[in-house]
Amino acid sequence: MTIDLRSDTVTRPTPAMLQAMMEAQVGDDVFGEDPSINQLEAMATRLFGMEAALYCPSGTMSNQIAIKCHTLPGDEVICEKSSHVYIYEGGGIAFNSGAQVRALDGDRGRITAEQVSAAINPDDVHKARTSLVSLENTANRGGGSCYDPEEIGKIRQVCQDNQLKLHLDGARLFNALVATKQTAASYGQLFDSISVCLNKGLGCPIGSILIGPAAFIRQARRVRKVFGGGMRQAGFMAAAGIYALEHHVERLAEDHAHARQIAAVLEKKDFVASILPVDTNIIIFEVGSAYCTKSLVDQFKEQGIRAIAISSNQVRFVTHLDVTPEMVERTIRVIEAL
Ligand SMILES: *Cc1c(COP(=O)(O)O)cnc(C)c1O
Repeated sequence: MTIDLRSDTVTRPTPAMLQAMMEAQVGDDVFGEDPSINQLEAMATRLFGMEAALYCPSGTMSNQIAIKCHTLPGDEVICEKSSHVYIYEGGGIAFNSGAQVRALDGDRGRITAEQVSAAINPDDVHKARTSLVSLENTANRGGGSCYDPEEIGKIRQVCQDNQLKLHLDGARLFNALVATKQTAASYGQLFDSISVCLNKGLGCPIGSILIGPAAFIRQARRVRKVFGGGMRQAGFMAAAGIYALEHHVERLAEDHAHARQIAAVLEKKDFVASILPVDTNIIIFEVGSAYCTKSLVDQFKEQGIRAIAISSNQVRFVTHLDVTPEMVERTIRVIEAL
């Protein structure tokens, strides 16, 4: 038995999800005729209390579409320095939008209204035009940290006062919502656009959804086609998304509990120099200088446990739908014996 804790993207569809996919009604979505995609988009629109939504093949694409719609070439995007949109999307902000990044040094991936305010360029021909702020919740490199919604409210105000758009990379937003007991609708009020992954903790094989105002989504639909993301009978995949929104949201609390259990054991080990607080389903720890990160990951692998080295001295574990309580117990026993 392999226990794959490298990422929450490794999940396979459950039998019930597969059944929902098999039974999906489909049509040509580029013609707007796929009933399952239309249903998923309507569901997300309602859930967030926004005007419209767009089903996309990946979270990277939905983020990149949003950035393209919110910026012009030469603009500047404010985000945290370890943001997915900045460090894990292949230079997409420059490649797709011709925009540049003002990367801020945050607290576990989170930035403050004060930092945003100080990073806005004045109206000066020497400076790039600041047009967009992009936040990430939960913050992946921050160890699945959650934003304080009050701080987001303050950032929203700074954006409004300076005519900036505010985008949320909510790849794991549902983890944050479950952990902080908040509603999707409260987030719909704070952002100009929100991108949510279906292919992470929610357990779908692929897919992401971009939500926003009607005019924004109309433009996003055009950009999705330009990016090559216009899909045809993708309702088979959207059906997995519908199933996940109905059945896989509340259960994220189990993943969070599993992560806390694993972290509690790691904390006591000599090879762990420090461990980030575990807010959701991600555990990131720093390996002590006397130990080698790579050989530690290899040792776990020999015991049937997959982890990932995310830097020269950091290891990440992620809990997810396919991690059972028995697997958590086994992981704990292996950690204790190391
Ligand atoms: C996974 C992830 C994405 C998008 O990933 P895809 O694999 O392209 O769906 C975006 N942002 C964050 C924070 C992520 O973790």
